[in-house]
Amino acid sequence: MSHTGEPLELRALIDELRAGGSPGKEKMLALLDGLMGVSGAQPKAPDAEELREARSYLYASARRTQRAVFGVGVFKRGLIEIGNYCRNDCYYCGIRRGNGNAVRYRLTEDEISACCREGYDLGFRTFVLQGGEDPFFSVSRIERIVRRIKESHPDCAVTLSLGEADRDAYRRWRKAGADRYLLRHETADEAHYRSLHPGTLSPEHRKRCLYALKELGYQVGTGFMVGSPGQTTEHLVSDLAFIRELEPHMVGIGPFLPHRDTIYRAHPAGSVELTLILIAVIRLMSPGVLLPATTALGSAAEDGRERGILAGANVVMPNLTPVPYRAHYALYDGKICTGEEAAQCGGCLSRRMRGIGYELLVGKGDYTA
Ligand code: SF4
Repeated sequence: MSHTGEPLELRALIDELRAGGSPGKEKMLALLDGLMGVSGAQPKAPDAEELREARSYLYASARRTQRAVFGVGVFKRGLIEIGNYCRNDCYYCGIRRGNGNAVRYRLTEDEISACCREGYDLGFRTFVLQGGEDPFFSVSRIERIVRRIKESHPDCAVTLSLGEADRDAYRRWRKAGADRYLLRHETADEAHYRSLHPGTLSPEHRKRCLYALKELGYQVGTGFMVGSPGQTTEHLVSDLAFIRELEPHMVGIGPFLPHRDTIYRAHPAGSVELTLILIAVIRLMSPGVLLPATTALGSAAEDGRERGILAGANVVMPNLTPVPYRAHYALYDGKICTGEEAAQCGGCLSRRMRGIGYELLVGKGDYTA
């Protein structure tokens, strides 16, 4: 321990994570509180210098792990926002059913194919089809869309991010060729989950979906918002514990960003720094996990995605959605890249990655750890 007690304590916890240890709840609380500069249950919070030192040690440790597993390569996924209708009413979401101000759209099957063709020519080998829970995109329609993409681009991975569905739907989509599924658990704490969602949604069902997806052989991604209304450090520690338990292949986290048409319009945005801290902690906990530097992170800070990569992330998701629809897929206000064509988005991210010593890769980028 140092004479002040705190920095070495944080370093020791970071080292423990990096060595594959599994610090318990109290230690994880002390780590997150300490790295955010609050004392929490500890007798004293680190001072500004100690904080700087501890954070830079954390990010450097996460980068060492990231580079040992992935080198300086960053995977790119082409995001296609297939529609913004949703049957749900999550309280924080700009495209929830009850938002009468949302301008709704759905891409046609031909438009989705055209996005993939353009993305393929730009070097994308993963297409992420994302949308609200929309009965129009029925089980058979999604099956057909997935088959069509896999027939046209057999060397590409298809990721679905279409919310909760029953096991049979997940099974059929998997059989049609879907490789991966993203479904954020949002918060592992039951009461917190219920405070953010209407009673029609339940944390148990969400978790059951995630386990079903794993059993069906998908590469599974989960994740959560940082700084969502009512979130505490205890909740974040539960989120990390859930990630340890689920052992997902991907984890997507980004700061909470408010949307003007929700009850949380005046709630402050989540902290970029805390998001970076959590990215780094997850990289140390799960060295091989695929971790995007999310659009929300890039929306919260101009250099958010670069900082995400430097904190241990290794995936970026440029938008392939046709420009006229982009602004309508607004889960939160202030979303970046709503005006750029796909090629511009790819070129911009490529320059940004090179600027920090990383390189965008062409390839499916499967989970291999
Ligand atoms: S968060 Fe997802 S499920 Fe909830 S309302 Fe928004 S799009 Fe629908």
